[in-house]
Amino acid sequence: ESFTDMCLHSSIMKDISFHGYTTPTPIQAQAMPVALSGRDLLGCAETGSGKTAAFSIPMIQHCLAQPPVRRGDGPLALVLAPTRELAQQIEKERSELRLGVDVVVATPGRFIDHLQQGNTSLSRISFIVLDEADRMLDMGFEPQMREVMQNLPQKHQTLLFSATMPVEIEMLAQEYLTNPVQVKV
Ligand code: AMP
Repeated sequence: ESFTDMCLHSSIMKDISFHGYTTPTPIQAQAMPVALSGRDLLGCAETGSGKTAAFSIPMIQHCLAQPPVRRGDGPLALVLAPTRELAQQIEKERSELRLGVDVVVATPGRFIDHLQQGNTSLSRISFIVLDEADRMLDMGFEPQMREVMQNLPQKHQTLLFSATMPVEIEMLAQEYLTNPVQVKV
């Protein structure tokens, strides 16, 4: 499937051509139609596969379809990543598109800190991405990941990406994803 076949918002199509992407990578070709359909996704993919765009594009498309955000409302979408460096990289890749779209990218620890300080809220999150979930577990973020997942609004879409699929990831997926489609590259 090409990007043109995915019925993407025109601002996203512009961004894709701005980046010079012509053909979806294998993870994008498999994951994007699933994520765009609204289903939960369990994606097995490594860094360098193009997974950032694979989850960011459906996330932005989802946010653009929501009613306008009022000032002071919490974010619509949340990406949790294992390190600040990765979180900043994800932000940078999608920064042009974040204009007018309320997305937060953070490590689980920092996000929980901000939540406790009342700087952010889970109350409007309807799209969540757990990126490099196996690394987040290795780094001891399981309690924070669970805290976030347990306090999301009932109606939300979850994308979980992991380079490896140990039993701990399968258990998290079973607990928090709803009838997920599994893709592997
Ligand atoms: P990632 O796996 O998300 O870290 O992406 C690896 C690299 O692939 C990044 O530099 C992206 O800009 C690039 N990339 C992502 N999608 C595409 C695509 N469809 N065509 C060409 N390059 C891409």
